[in-house]
Amino acid sequence: MNGPVGRGALLAIALVATLGLAATALASGGLSTGGKDGDGGKRGGGGSDDAAFPIQGRHSYGDGIGAGRGHQGQDIFAKCGKKVVAARPGRVRWVDYQASGAGHYVVVKGKKYDYVYMHMLKRLSVRRGERVGAGEQIGRVGSTGRATGCHLHFEMWRRPGWYRGGQLANPTPFLKRWDRGR
Ligand SMILES: [Zn+2]
Repeated sequence: MNGPVGRGALLAIALVATLGLAATALASGGLSTGGKDGDGGKRGGGGSDDAAFPIQGRHSYGDGIGAGRGHQGQDIFAKCGKKVVAARPGRVRWVDYQASGAGHYVVVKGKKYDYVYMHMLKRLSVRRGERVGAGEQIGRVGSTGRATGCHLHFEMWRRPGWYRGGQLANPTPFLKRWDRGR
């Protein structure tokens, strides 16, 4: 979905410039727990890099950023009902519903990014203000809102975050990395 505000074109251009930075951040330990920010690393027994691919089970990739229509995230197709888990730890900033777009969605505020999960089934597993760890269930894959078929639409926004003036980041390289780490 394109979001309540059409900023796709500009962001798509900005994205090209920022992709390199994202990759650099990744290579320089953007995924390590560290504990410098007090986030993650305290759950014990979690993944070594404290990240998880957001869908459990079989999945395939759909449209990424842009896609000729100002698409602001990466679509991941999976069966409706499959578990959606937090890719990275953080605090739940929004649990809401938007009939015309996002459907049932959750926004998690992490250290560097907001992580946005859209089109999920109605029964979500988290509440606003709650802290979630990487790999912790958020909801289930659905097709609520403006969605064609069962899929998760996943977005990442740099701080200050989603619709708070943060800049859109390309989630696809992150997703592919987390996907390989399984
Ligand atoms: Zn999408």
